[in-house]
Parts: sequence; structure tokens; C-alpha cells
Amino acid sequence: VERTLSIIKPDATKRNLTGKINAKFEDAGLRIVAQKRIQLTMAQAGQFYIVHKDRPFYGELCEFMASKPVVVQVLEGEGAILKNREVMGATNPADAAPGTIRAEFAESVGENSVHGSDAPETAAEEIAYFFSGLELV
Ligand code: ATP
Ligand code: MG
Repeated sequence: VERTLSIIKPDATKRNLTGKINAKFEDAGLRIVAQKRIQLTMAQAGQFYIVHKDRPFYGELCEFMASKPVVVQVLEGEGAILKNREVMGATNPADAAPGTIRAEFAESVGENSVHGSDAPETAAEEIAYFFSGLELV
């Protein structure tokens, strides 16, 4: 069964939306198999989003991700990576399909409530970035 790394971002934890977002995952058939609340340092956020280091929004994105606690989680299910991205909706909430997390909760293209891995390789890397083998059953 496939697993993917999800992050409930600071704009959503701040507004106490963890439960509502988790309900969307569970309703879509995704199982939350690991979850913890942490606050990223700037260095940790910068490393996590290193693929975007040359994009104009990189500094702002890292500051946002380190600004408040996030909830990092591992979601499991058939086709979990794609399914999670469907439930999340498009990056920009203005383009996100009705009923998706970003359509309902995101505040802007930057402060868009959730992250989800985009491929099997990045999912494996991102899960290992936040969770040890002992935390995953
Ligand atoms: P994520 O990787 O967080 O799941 P995504 O895959 O939908 O989101 P990416 O293109 O990987 O989108 O961008 C990573 C994150 O960078 C976005 O989720 C958003 O928070 C931020 N971001 C992307 N584009 C912009 C932009 N034009 N302006 C500000 N922030 C942006
Ligand atoms: Mg991405």
C-alpha cells in the first residue's frame, strides 16, 4: 500500500483546522498512520523546500513554514500520493476544485493549508525527513 507525506501548514494549524482537514483525508480513504506537531526552524524549512530555492517566493515560503507549528503526517492508501493531491486541490486556492482542502481553507497561493508529496521518490525522501522507522508501523 502506498504512503505519502502530508503537512498541515501554519495557516491551518493557527486556525485550528487539523481535525477538519484530517476528516477530508479519512473521508477519501486515506489512513493517518503517523502524525506529530512540530515547529520547523528556517534551516529545516529551507532544506525541505530546497527544490524551490531559485523561485522568487522561496524566502517567503520558508519564513511562513517556520512561523508557527505544523502537523507532519504520513497518509496511507491505494494510490495515496495522487489521491492526497486530489483532496488537497490546486496550489492556488482560486483554481482549486470545490470541496478540496485548498478550496475550502487556503488563504492564498502561498498560505495554502497543506503540502503533499508529488511522486514516489519524493514521498519516500520526505517521510524519512520527518519520521524514523520506529515511528512507522
Ligand atoms: P506543496 O509542494 O506545498 O504540496 P504544490 O506541490 O501544490 O505544493 P509547489 O509548486 O510545489 O506546489 O510549491 C510549493 C509551495 O510553494 C506551495 O504549496 C505554496 O505554499 C508555495 N508557492 C508556490 N507558488 C507560489 C507563488 N506563486 N507565490 C507564493 N508562494 C507560492
Ligand atoms: Mg510541491
